[in-house]
Amino acid sequence: MVPNINPPDDEYLTELRREFHRHPEPAWREFWTTARIVDELEQTDVDEIHVGPDAIDPAERLGVPDEAELSYWFEQARESTDRPDVLEKLQGGTTGVVAVVEKGDGPTVGLRVDIDALPIEESTGESHLPATEGFRSEHDGAMHACGHDSHVAFGLGTLETILESEFEGTFKVFFQPAEEVLGGGKPMAAGPHIDDVDYLLGVHVGLDHPTGEVVAGIDEALAFSKLGVEFEGESAHAGLAPNQGRNAVQALVTAAGNLYGIPRHGDGSTRVNVGNLRSENASNVVADRASADAEVRGETTALMEYMRDASVRVLNSAAEMHDCSVETSIKGQAPREDCDEEVVDLVADLAENHTDAVSSVVRRGTLGASEDFTHLLQAVKANGGAGTFVGIGTDHPSGHHTPTFDVDEDSLSIGVAVLSSAALELLA
Ligand SMILES: [Zn+2]
Repeated sequence: MVPNINPPDDEYLTELRREFHRHPEPAWREFWTTARIVDELEQTDVDEIHVGPDAIDPAERLGVPDEAELSYWFEQARESTDRPDVLEKLQGGTTGVVAVVEKGDGPTVGLRVDIDALPIEESTGESHLPATEGFRSEHDGAMHACGHDSHVAFGLGTLETILESEFEGTFKVFFQPAEEVLGGGKPMAAGPHIDDVDYLLGVHVGLDHPTGEVVAGIDEALAFSKLGVEFEGESAHAGLAPNQGRNAVQALVTAAGNLYGIPRHGDGSTRVNVGNLRSENASNVVADRASADAEVRGETTALMEYMRDASVRVLNSAAEMHDCSVETSIKGQAPREDCDEEVVDLVADLAENHTDAVSSVVRRGTLGASEDFTHLLQAVKANGGAGTFVGIGTDHPSGHHTPTFDVDEDSLSIGVAVLSSAALELLA
């Protein structure tokens, strides 16, 4: 039996998406976003709302910005929301929400949507619809340039559809923070709400698929790890006594060059890249501090770990070569985890045969980049569950992560229809 759904109207979804588009907040700074989601959830008959430290495991967070950055965004949110009670719980950058609908005995189905934005300045161009229609970013230097504003609308719209439907079981929506730094998946998977999930759906809009196209399972996300690197040496006068210094910049550039020289693994593809190289020292000072971020990826988790272990060896060796010390920390992480055939088939069938606005279905697509949905999928699979990462096509005028990125809002209702019918079918 194909589930009968009664989703919210297009105008509601468009308004929601635009409201979130106007308030983009980067990783772990989703204070307004979390408060607004809670506000919206409270207007429904949802059974449980878990916020911040009740939604995720704060100790497992990766890539949390410093105190000054967090409080800057916290203050901005305080000025634009009337939910100080929610903000209170999010202090220190513990953002995110899990919403639960319970209707008797049956399976538990989860939907994960990510809610964070990017540190990109949004276009003011005349062909950029959010600028001309008055819903451009209100935060200078931040933008929903990957469509996570649409994902929030998918999450809320699907939840409201499920609430209006007949089923027996439990439905949960995971509003996940900090996907862009691959820092929020791990703490959400370590939180208290994933363990009983039998089926998990993830979703992403766009990804070069046009409006009307649905990808039932997006696979092959590269396993990922990001290392924060800090070298410490000793400063000295670069002219008078360079021999008395221990040069952290030298250690860093030695490391950077050699990171790119890690031998490639015969078992599959790997990546390495270095960025954000910094040293505050003037050129007439032997640098006592230098830092950078290094990221590695692999076709499998094992290949990523090979690159990560080799990177740590290179970093330690470069430090030793220049008589410095180095500290490394994990700032983001995601394993490789693929979609399950049974759930992919179910989504493909529903989209192809029972969703009017869907014009074409791709059974399996590839991501090519990385996604920390894999942390949640891995947790569900470890408990015998299954899941898929669904692509909802949208005509986007420019690529993801660019200042003119935008979505075709017709895809909002398509996403809600596909995700709600898949969730209800899995609950049946
Ligand atoms: Zn994204």
